[in-house]
Amino acid sequence: MRIDNDPKLDFDDVLIRPKRSEAPSRASVELEREYRFLNGGGVWKGVPIVAANMDTVGTFAMSEAIGPPMLTCLHKYYPEDALVDFFREEAHSDSTFFTIGLNDAEFDKLVAVKKKADVRMVCVDAANGYTKFFVERVKRVRDAFPTMTILAGNVATPDMVQELLISGAADVVKIGIGPGSVCTTRRTTGVGYPQLSAIIECADAAHGLRGHVCADGGCRFPGDVVKAFAAGADFVMLGGMLAGHDECEGEWVMDEGRRVALRFYGMSSQEALDKYAGGRRDYRACEGRAVSVPYKGPVLDTMQEVTGGIRSACAYVGATRLKDLSKCTTFVICQRPHGSMFA
Ligand code: 5GP
Repeated sequence: MRIDNDPKLDFDDVLIRPKRSEAPSRASVELEREYRFLNGGGVWKGVPIVAANMDTVGTFAMSEAIGPPMLTCLHKYYPEDALVDFFREEAHSDSTFFTIGLNDAEFDKLVAVKKKADVRMVCVDAANGYTKFFVERVKRVRDAFPTMTILAGNVATPDMVQELLISGAADVVKIGIGPGSVCTTRRTTGVGYPQLSAIIECADAAHGLRGHVCADGGCRFPGDVVKAFAAGADFVMLGGMLAGHDECEGEWVMDEGRRVALRFYGMSSQEALDKYAGGRRDYRACEGRAVSVPYKGPVLDTMQEVTGGIRSACAYVGATRLKDLSKCTTFVICQRPHGSMFA
């Protein structure tokens, strides 16, 4: 047994130090980024915020509302016909990931839809991205579709980022083991990695190879999204922050015909396993939970808070573009990241 004594940080352990600068006006901060992908070779331009492929959040309506310029990873439970119709629209192909897991039926569905519609981006998603089998599954997508943009994960350490970029031939690696709002992996298994350090270390490894990373999980406020970008994330994926909006699917709690709250659950919670996998198998523990999220209205209002937060942060540190935010960032370690008097 070994102990790594280097301190590892989470969003709440740091703040971004403000800097004297010729601060750009918030309105003029450039939020769009342009990436050329390592293995697929595609070029993408937009605001690199991604709706998570959870069945409540990764919906057609979410993609319609936020993209372009933002991205959505669709959940993997839409039927083939609906996906074909959806991906036949050019704007959707540019801003939406088709999601698959590890099983053959999901890969076959991708192949079938791709024959009839223009799928350009795929998210290959597994709770545990550390297995050899997972790397092989990512590589299978690459071999079948050499120019596809492939987002693959989740992992939280540089060794596996490199493995997925090199052996899996992924373009973007999704980072996060255990930080999610409805994730219980850390409680159930004791496994995880503090998310801010995971982003810093994985971004460094990916950028050294000209690959990219997507920070996934643990953002509760716009300031956390800012910290994820400041730590080097090329994309930031959001689940819980986008739950409860008009664009979500699922079970709403209603009061006199009005939406009050949404049932929001982890994709490996008992709820999700009952719904999609015919219940929990004996050998498998649940690694997610369910909560009620208050109704929040249109998602664009929340997105405006997020982009507003990023713009202000850039102005505080003197970055004229989101691209420059991480270069302009000095994190300071803190014990009290937010005031708590009225929390
Ligand atoms: P959030 O933005 O809600 O903090 O995190 C969203 C991320 O949590 C998702 O993109 C996914 O990676 C992760 N996630 C979703 N459902 C589950 C689950 O049931 N278990 C675990 N371990 N992670 C989950």
